[in-house]
Amino acid sequence: MLAALYYTRIFNLRETKNMKLVAKLVLVMAAATGSAQAHDDPVNCDNCADWNKPVKPFNVYGNTWHVGVDGLSSVLVTGPKGHILVDGGLPQSAPLIEANIKALGFRMKDVKLIVNSHAHWDHAGGIAALQRASGAVVAASRSGALAMQSGTNPPDDPQFQANPVVHVAKVAKVKVVGEGEILKVGPISVTAHMTPGHAPGGTTWTWTSCEGKRCLDVVFADSLNSYASGDFKFTGTGKTPDISTSFAASIAKVAALKCDIIISGHPGLTDLMEKAAARTPDSNPLIDAAGCRAYAAEASERLTKRLVKERGG
Ligand SMILES: [Zn+2]
Repeated sequence: MLAALYYTRIFNLRETKNMKLVAKLVLVMAAATGSAQAHDDPVNCDNCADWNKPVKPFNVYGNTWHVGVDGLSSVLVTGPKGHILVDGGLPQSAPLIEANIKALGFRMKDVKLIVNSHAHWDHAGGIAALQRASGAVVAASRSGALAMQSGTNPPDDPQFQANPVVHVAKVAKVKVVGEGEILKVGPISVTAHMTPGHAPGGTTWTWTSCEGKRCLDVVFADSLNSYASGDFKFTGTGKTPDISTSFAASIAKVAALKCDIIISGHPGLTDLMEKAAARTPDSNPLIDAAGCRAYAAEASERLTKRLVKERGG
């Protein structure tokens, strides 16, 4: 069957360092039908070119490596029996992530597991291609798995669009994980913490990385921005439930995590690149036990403002 091309509309989320969000209508050409490959078409959002600027991969700590692009984190956790990749950026990020993994001397076929923070096109768009390149198992929350398998977000997603929209490249098979689940690849593992709010399937991932005898708790913090499309309300609409309490609980959960190093989905939100560049033999700004609390505090402030506005305050 011929793939019919049509225009779909998506709103572009600008997650800048000062958390100022600007929604803009953009047009994206997407293939409506056909193979999963059709969904791998680049996303042409306002910030996409900026976000997708190539950056050299770098070591975060121990076996944790940043292999993403300038504005979207993608992290490789390496082990002797295979590696774990967290997030895949935009569809057009996938070849850059793959090149970064190879530049570090790792092989794609050794990537055994790919996990996702949330199934929006800027964090999950590249996963389908990276899965094909590696043969890895893909794992996500129940809602995230449904979004990746269907290629569209569910109606309870704050960024849901009524018209058919291809949000993410389709992944044929996604393993569903639950709260506290530990996924292992040989001796290394990542733990899933459900943090719904920004997206219904939002998941924060944690693991431990060691250098010699010093082991640190690394947190890949999911987006906690209370941004929504259209008339969505976090306090609930006739069609969607009030998620203000569960969102606040997710923010509190991230604040309470054991957290020596935070990596946010958009590295700029925690100055990840700047901190990495500022490291010296004597100091490492990436190691900051208050990092998760600070990230959560900003999100909490933002959500509070949003809820006041929704309640007519
Ligand atoms: Zn998002």
